[in-house]
Order: sequence, then structure tokens, then C-alpha cells
Amino acid sequence: MTTTVAFLGLGRMGTAMAGHLAAAGHPLTVWNRSPAAAEAFAAAHGARSAPTPAAAVAGAQVVVTMLADDRALLETYRREDGVLAGLEPGALAIDMSTVSPSTVQQVHDWVREREGSFVDAPVSGSVASAQAAGLTIMAAGPAADVDRAREVLDVLGARVLHLGPTGAGAAMKLSVNTIVHSLNQAVSEALVLAERAGIARERAYEVFANSAVAAPFVQYRRAAYERPGEVPVTFALELAAKDLRLALELAGRVGAPLPQTTTNLAVLDAAVAAGLGQDDESAVAVHLRTATPPTR
Ligand code: NAP
Repeated sequence: MTTTVAFLGLGRMGTAMAGHLAAAGHPLTVWNRSPAAAEAFAAAHGARSAPTPAAAVAGAQVVVTMLADDRALLETYRREDGVLAGLEPGALAIDMSTVSPSTVQQVHDWVREREGSFVDAPVSGSVASAQAAGLTIMAAGPAADVDRAREVLDVLGARVLHLGPTGAGAAMKLSVNTIVHSLNQAVSEALVLAERAGIARERAYEVFANSAVAAPFVQYRRAAYERPGEVPVTFALELAAKDLRLALELAGRVGAPLPQTTTNLAVLDAAVAAGLGQDDESAVAVHLRTATPPTR
């Protein structure tokens, strides 16, 4: 493997993903806004740590971004020492963050102006599936660019689906996450209902996990719902709110009805206002417990 890769954004997902690129033998340079994460990753994986996005992408044939949100992605590209200041002509930029299709289009345009190619390739799956390279990747852009991206994407995920032109990956990711966050809301409500009706939390969850609703999401998040605050955060609640805000913006543009998503976002916003934004998204159940005291 000689394709040189720059990986920007070593959060929960990015750290797990970039490790596969190092293990696959790609010469790898990493950058993270808080440098300690990049330095620790570089030391652990034999990668190079760069002080700025521009320095990270200089000389890279493929540039991968895995950042929190639209603002993080736009800033990382356009800051004075950002990606655009160092991107090589002919480089392929792949964004894997969950962001809006319009942001993806903006980044695409910037990259094209610098004679590069761009693919949006957000992912469906958990931190655990990122660690196991089991992600589903929703790629979008010209077929030739998506094919070129597969060398890297195949290392990061179990399947790469080409959804359509630039922005289609971002749109699909927002669509699937309306389901994920509906499940989160549904499990939270059902758990609190069972508890308030006198059924022990673990007993109720045993039923969820062994019933018709036992989706992978319900299974792999069991510990987070049963023992809130005791297990590591795998998806920050404020990122769930970000996803649903973007989904509603997209729905407004394309004319799609999302009544459930509107309700779910209101609950997430209330949970963020109550100080739970950095908690795991399963803290919606915590919020419901504390926001509505039991009647008996
Ligand atoms: P995370 O752990 O919160 O990491 C976020 C990353 O973005 C960090 O590297 C952070 O840098 C960086 N960042 C935040 N604001 C920034 C800014 N203004 N400029 C530059 N960098 C900035 O998030 P994550 O869970 O890895 O998620 C990353 C993306 O994947 C998000 O779009 C999320 O919605 C999506 N996603 C997450 C999951 C999941 O299960 N966690 C699954 C699928 C998709 P610092 O270290 O300096 O804060």
C-alpha cells in the first residue's frame, strides 16, 4: 500500500478508523484540533502527527475528514492553515462526517477549484463497528472518484454503497439517522414507562432485547441504558441533536414530512439545555426520568 493518506479528526470514530489505515500499511499523517490526540495516535500507530491541517495534507494523495459537524468541517478546510492551503492538485478528499448535503457541496466546490476530487462518504455504525472495520459507508460523487476512494474506504468499512452524485451520501446518512434517533427516543420512553409501572430497569431491558424490537441498536446500547453514566460515551447527545436539525433542514428543502423527528429534536434540545449534551445519547432516558417526576 503506497497511497499516502492524511486523516483529520481523531475523535471517537476517527481514532478507530484511522487505526485501520495505519495497520493496512498506508503512509499516514494525522491531525486533530486538540493536538494531544494526534500525538498519542501517531506514537501508538507509527503515523506522523502534523501541527496544522495544511501540513497534514501536504503530499497526501487521499485526505479523509471525520469531524464533529458542518462548522468543524468548513473551518478545517478554510482556515488560513487549513486543508485548502495545503491540498495537492489531483488529491482525493473524502469527508466521512455527518454533515449537510449543502456543506458537502461547498467543500466539493472548493476542492474542485484546487483541481482535486471529492467524495462524501458518511458512515452508519457504532464506535464498535468502526473498531471492527464493520461500518456501512454511503459514498457519493462521480463513479470514477468513488471507485478511487474504495482503496481507502474498503479498509474502513464492511460495505461501500454508491448512493448517487455529490451530497447523496450526506442525505442518506441524515435519513438513516432519523431512524437511529427515533429508536433512541422510543427505547428511552418505553424504559421509563416500564420503570414507572414498577418493573425493574434490567428486567424491562431483558424483554426489549428478546422481543420483536431487538434491533442491533437496542442490543449494543443495552449497558448505556441500564447503567447511565457508568459506561463510556459512544455517541454524544449533542451530535444526535445536530443530526436531527440537519435532517429537518433537508426535509424543508426537499419537501418531506418528519413529524416524529420534530418531536425527537425537541426532547434532545431540552436534554442539552439540562446539561446532558456531552453525555451519551441514551441519556434521553435520564432526562425523561428527571424532567417528569413520578406521580407515586
Ligand atoms: P467526537 O468524538 O465528538 O469527535 C469530534 C471530532 O471533531 C474531534 O476530533 C474534534 O476535535 C473535532 N472537532 C470538533 N469541532 C471542531 C472544529 N471546530 N474544528 C476542528 N475539529 C473539530 O465525534 P465522533 O463520535 O467521532 O463523530 C464524528 C462524526 O461522525 C460526527 O459527524 C458524528 O455525527 C459522526 N458519527 C458518529 C458515530 C458514533 O457512533 N460516534 C457514528 C456514525 C457517525 P477535538 O478532539 O479537538 O475536540
